[in-house]
Amino acid sequence: MTKVPGLTKNRVLIIGGGIAGLSASVRLAQAGLPVTLFEESTLGHGASTRNQGWLHSGGWFAKENIHLASRCYKSLQQTIQCCPDCLEPQQQGMAYLFSNPDTDVSSWLTTWENVGIPFKKLPVEEIFEQIPRLDKSQIYDSYLLPDRSIRPEILLNQIAITAENLGVEIRTQTHISGFLKENCSITGVVTGSGEEIPGRAVVLACGAAGTSLWSCSREFHVGEQSEFTWVALKSHLVSVSPGLSNLPFCVVDRGGFNHIPHAADSIFGNNRWKTVPYSTGPDVDPDEIEQTLQTIKQLIPTFSRKEHKINSWSGISTQAMHVDQIEPGQAPLPTVIDHSLESPSIQNLFSIFPGRATLWPQLAEETRNTILEKFKLTDIPSEDPPWDIQE
Ligand SMILES: Cc1cc2nc3c(=O)[nH]c(=O)nc-3n(C[C@H](O)[C@H](O)[C@H](O)COP(=O)(O)OP(=O)(O)OC[C@H]3O[C@@H](n4cnc5c(N)ncnc54)[C@H](O)[C@@H]3O)c2cc1C
Repeated sequence: MTKVPGLTKNRVLIIGGGIAGLSASVRLAQAGLPVTLFEESTLGHGASTRNQGWLHSGGWFAKENIHLASRCYKSLQQTIQCCPDCLEPQQQGMAYLFSNPDTDVSSWLTTWENVGIPFKKLPVEEIFEQIPRLDKSQIYDSYLLPDRSIRPEILLNQIAITAENLGVEIRTQTHISGFLKENCSITGVVTGSGEEIPGRAVVLACGAAGTSLWSCSREFHVGEQSEFTWVALKSHLVSVSPGLSNLPFCVVDRGGFNHIPHAADSIFGNNRWKTVPYSTGPDVDPDEIEQTLQTIKQLIPTFSRKEHKINSWSGISTQAMHVDQIEPGQAPLPTVIDHSLESPSIQNLFSIFPGRATLWPQLAEETRNTILEKFKLTDIPSEDPPWDIQE
């Protein structure tokens, strides 16, 4: 193994160049810490550029978790402020559609009001104008909320440029294969080519892959119980080309079945997240795709599979749920774990999960605060994030 000269032991080492790692790197560099980020492939190679691009307003989560919804709404505003170019053009928001006359619509409106998410009634005639082939008997009420469809790769690129301008060293095509350890402390990382890189803190921002690195750090405390449960959740997406409409929508009372248009395509998600083992690959379950295509056909009866190019894929999102949190998969909260506070206790190791990509500014803030508090650097003058909302 070779030791790399010139890297101080004070460096924060981030593993993973998705939206979590990149946004955290910005806030840590702003606090004056030297930061190196490692990505084994290209930036955003993981879930961050393979997701649906639904920038959540929080409207969909509001009934389940008001706190999560208000975080989403703030993150949406910060994303639009920091990177307006990532918004798909000519969209004003997302239609929240109600398809069942028995649904208690007023309870949704009250929750949105309580969270402070702006919404306005969208006459159903307007919906039918924007989605001309929609079956009129299927929709009886609709509201416009500020959710957007975004191009994640543009947002990611903007955050990466901001990070580099702040001095973050970004090393792509660099796989991290293990840690440097001293007793119960992590003191650095080891790359796939054998470089040893020292650092004062290591941040795992590598989604499901972090669990294999994490298990290697657990070796020296076998048998002790973790406070967190790692959950891998799989969901399926279907892309229809040419697209069916430029209006993003979600059908509230069909489990949040949703349509996120991207350029000339329509991407449909069924909002079902199944718990899977980490070892599960991105193979597609044909039943999930069939169900999605059938729901499209119910909503748009003239939809014909022969007239469109149809692609389908699945992806896995990893979350860490604290034992106190509700059922895995229900609350995709941003999570920062300081492994020294867990059992087994590992010093200088942190794991971060955005929950949903939308929540990246919240996660970056929590990561910064956790690490500064940990190293008693709280007297560092606080600098507003580059994506702060201008009033
Ligand atoms: C199908 C699907 C649809 C989704 N849709 C949405 C949506 O519409 N809106 C939304 O807000 N959220 C959505 N999400 C959730 C969102 O995509 C994720 O929460 C978010 O992208 C996770 O970001 P991340 O940076 O933590 O992980 P990733 O983006 O997965 O980044 C991890 C990175 O770490 C790298 N890496 C892994 N191991 C190593 C290693 N050993 N060394 C170096 N690098 C390594 C990987 O190459 C990868 O680039 C969706 C998720 C899925 C799966």
